[in-house]
Amino acid sequence: MTNQEQINEFASHYPGWSDLAHKLNKLLSDNNKTIDQIKEKFGCIRCYFSPVPDKQLYDKIVSIENESGEVCCKCGEPGRVSSWGRYWMLCLCETCGEKRRKDT
Ligand SMILES: [Zn+2]
Repeated sequence: MTNQEQINEFASHYPGWSDLAHKLNKLLSDNNKTIDQIKEKFGCIRCYFSPVPDKQLYDKIVSIENESGEVCCKCGEPGRVSSWGRYWMLCLCETCGEKRRKDT
């Protein structure tokens, strides 16, 4: 898959993170990095790519990944990382979190 396809696929699962995912894609593609995998881990975006970046680029990517821990992955409103019920950690806003509690 191309970087863009990876990002589109990811954004379709986590529409609230779409902006952050596209920001990551631009940063990585502009620096000739290939996205190997982008996924949700412990409530944040986690992106695997190659080849290894320099420190400056790495820091920018980590800062976008960390930002995702404060944005609801469903709707893009301010959110927080919690289990929101019985299952794995996700970053959600109160509204989406409440819905998840009912669903699980
Ligand atoms: Zn939400």
